[in-house]
Amino acid sequence: MLGLMQPHALMISSLLTHAARHHAAGEIVSRTHENTTHRYSWADAERRARRLVRVLQGLGVGEGDRVGTLAWNGYRHLEVYYAAPGMQAICHTINPRLHPDDIAYIITHAGDRVLFVDVSFAPLICAIAPKIRDTVQAVVMMCDAATMPEMTLAPGMALHSYDTLIDAAADDYAWPTFDERTASALCYTSGTTGRPKGVLYSHRSTTLHAYAIAMPDVLCLRATTRVLPVVPMFHVNAWGIPYAAALSGAGLVLPGRHLDGASMAKLLNDERVTFTCGVPTVWFGLLQHLRMSGERLHSVQRIMTGGSAAPPLLIEAFRDEYNVAVEHGWGMTELSPVGTYNAPKPAQAGLSPAEAVRHMLKQGRILPGLDMKIVDGAGRELPWDGVAFGDLKVRGPWVTCAYYGDEPGSALDAEGWFATGDVATIDPDGFMEITDRSKDVIKSGGEWISSITLENIAVSHPDVAEAAVIAVRHPKWDERPLLLVVPRPGHTVDPESVLRIYDGKVAKWWLPDLVLVVADLPHTATGKLLKTALRSHYGDIYANRTT
Ligand code: ADP
Repeated sequence: MLGLMQPHALMISSLLTHAARHHAAGEIVSRTHENTTHRYSWADAERRARRLVRVLQGLGVGEGDRVGTLAWNGYRHLEVYYAAPGMQAICHTINPRLHPDDIAYIITHAGDRVLFVDVSFAPLICAIAPKIRDTVQAVVMMCDAATMPEMTLAPGMALHSYDTLIDAAADDYAWPTFDERTASALCYTSGTTGRPKGVLYSHRSTTLHAYAIAMPDVLCLRATTRVLPVVPMFHVNAWGIPYAAALSGAGLVLPGRHLDGASMAKLLNDERVTFTCGVPTVWFGLLQHLRMSGERLHSVQRIMTGGSAAPPLLIEAFRDEYNVAVEHGWGMTELSPVGTYNAPKPAQAGLSPAEAVRHMLKQGRILPGLDMKIVDGAGRELPWDGVAFGDLKVRGPWVTCAYYGDEPGSALDAEGWFATGDVATIDPDGFMEITDRSKDVIKSGGEWISSITLENIAVSHPDVAEAAVIAVRHPKWDERPLLLVVPRPGHTVDPESVLRIYDGKVAKWWLPDLVLVVADLPHTATGKLLKTALRSHYGDIYANRTT
């Protein structure tokens, strides 16, 4: 027997129409590329998104077509986020920090018909225009007519100014309802190995993810929250915040391209931001600026860090020096992206300040709606004892089942689980902790050594700014750890003193065989350590060892 409840489909447009109707005055603030501040409301955003649908239709975009964006966080980008899926097209966000060849590959692979481009990426788009001319028919620069840059595209590609098109468009569009499984957005993983792969979200997955991340034990978004996603809208939908903010009626502050410590501190204070989300690198920049300038944060209560492991120093410094809580979450492009969040249970109530920091290093509990497990090399489920570590698998309605262009289900195992590529422990309270990427774990003499654990200990050394531990081939042990450290500015690092801080913290056989001091470490376009490059450079350094 079917239930007798209204069969409304979960539509992304309904998040926006909710915000426009019930939080009409809720503010969206954008720092523009001219470094001015643009303000409008959720009601304005909804009206402009409807006009943008008319623009898209005028450009020949129809159902299922891909609409690419190469843009920072700003109100025009937000409008594309809602207009494209609202008309059953697909918003394809492209990471401009990738190599131009990868960008051209992604645009061609996705078959983007129209591109929306920030002015700062004009040279980039002109450079790759000849490579994408077969798919891209029009480029819309996200500016007014007066600020249109001088550009030459490939023959046959039309060039427009966003504001000119919007100003001429009618606002008579009415958001349609259709199958909630319809594709809504496309995002390519940054591809630390191999070619980038596309993850294709749906209206259903996006809406459910928005509901889940807004909850109190996750991002805790409310109508009184003013949230600033530093995480770019070109990187996994800015972690879903543009959708979840509309759902909650939260104020949204979009920082544009200037993400350095000084610009961040000013924007956070000027716009009375209460909550902000981004990767650790950004928070280190902010911390450094605050310490040097003596500035304080006047409104920020919580900072969420994710994308890579939360450094203990960050958690301590913001808590102890600025009275700001650092929260820790984990996710990936394939999970829309949020999978776990570290919010306390009653058992965490009595933790000492030091224990609380240690606990916050865990990536957290699975979001309701998803499930997770850890398995050993033979696929057997491992216990939740906080010690055993194995491959982390997840499943649920906002987890991908196949990459763009592949057969549905092809990214899953026989029981429908998705292998995250991360290696983790789960403690008896259900808090997951990443110990490695599957491809980065060091397999020494048949046992596994966690590179992340070794890196976290290395960065607790007072002279070390950044550390990377990689697996290096070893004639006797198969693989052994190599530690690379970058000194803090103005400091020198004594490798012996780095090895000494491991005393009592890890088993003797976990100790890196060698510590190399280097000037810097390579990173991916999303700021993660590029261990593939390190492995190919240092892969044979233990080749002649016998012990
Ligand atoms: P890519 O996999 O292409 O680098 P993603 O942004 O999808 O891009 O990265 C997801 C990966 O980032 C996760 O599988 C995990 O390895 C890492 N990651 C994300 N959040 C955290 C975190 N809080 N702690 C440790 N690693 C994290």
